[in-house]
Amino acid sequence: MNHTDLQDFSHKRYNILTGEWVLVSPHRAKRPWQGQNEAVSNTARPAYDETCYLCAGNTRINGEINPKYQDVFVFTNDFAALQKDSKSFSIKDGLLVAESETGICKVICFSPDHSKSLANMSAKDIQKVVLVWQKEFKELSENPNINYVQIFENKGAVMGCSNPHPHGQIWSQSTLPNEVDKKNTQQLAYYNKNNRSLLGDYLAQELEKQERIIFENRSFVVLIPFWAVWPFETMIVPKKQQSNILELNNDEALEYAEAISVITKTYDKLFNTSFPYSSGIHQAPTNGNANAHWHWHMSFYPPLLRSATVKKFMVGYEMFGSPQRDITAEIATKMIRDLV
Ligand SMILES: [Zn+2]
Repeated sequence: MNHTDLQDFSHKRYNILTGEWVLVSPHRAKRPWQGQNEAVSNTARPAYDETCYLCAGNTRINGEINPKYQDVFVFTNDFAALQKDSKSFSIKDGLLVAESETGICKVICFSPDHSKSLANMSAKDIQKVVLVWQKEFKELSENPNINYVQIFENKGAVMGCSNPHPHGQIWSQSTLPNEVDKKNTQQLAYYNKNNRSLLGDYLAQELEKQERIIFENRSFVVLIPFWAVWPFETMIVPKKQQSNILELNNDEALEYAEAISVITKTYDKLFNTSFPYSSGIHQAPTNGNANAHWHWHMSFYPPLLRSATVKKFMVGYEMFGSPQRDITAEIATKMIRDLV
């Protein structure tokens, strides 16, 4: 086995968490770019925008008025994708199969300051967000109709985010969504065979090799996973095996906040722009089981490829075959690590 071949020749890499493959084509990384450029908006935003439906004291479209919140503010989504009390049904008509799905969707404002993002909030302020994630996760997980809680953020117009106010979402539902279902299966199979955490063993290997590590503190590691699909995709992994964020004590919550702060700040430096991404936390289902096979983690999927204006598209072969990338995870790590 010669790892240097990974930098010169086309190959595919295995995603241990999903059981899927990504095609890597390092020899293509130098080809000239003649594709689409995205518009960049680096104009500073005001701390308060009277037209923003997330700013403190403003009225939302459904007529509710946001309180004059000081730190973090959560409300149930006015246009929720999942409804709490929708009709329960099951359809199996030959090959036409459908199941009803219920849930609760919330919006979480990270700060009352319209001009901020996680990248320019302090670790202390991000810790307040983590503590609210814990509170919401706990409350939703105690609901017998909720078996999974997805915490995520869409940042930037290029990701389809309609409002620049710093905010994320918490969608919770009665069944496991596709991505979580795959990770559940893979982690369970590894745990049953080895009686150890899949991500824990992976982390040990990455810490020994030091090829894809971006940042590390006492409790967390930020790295570009070996199987990353997006050019600058990263993952925050707790060193201790924990099934969900409720296992974080206050010190660990601050260390987690520091890891989020470091990677988001570093992203902004990479192309000197407010770096767009979708980020999300994958955690154990809230189905009442112990879920000892689960090791929670947070992933960042940023769309930018080589500058603030050049975006990676998931089209063609990626729609019909597998995801594909040119720049390797190791080269991307070097580019990011130098900016931390
Ligand atoms: Zn706002």
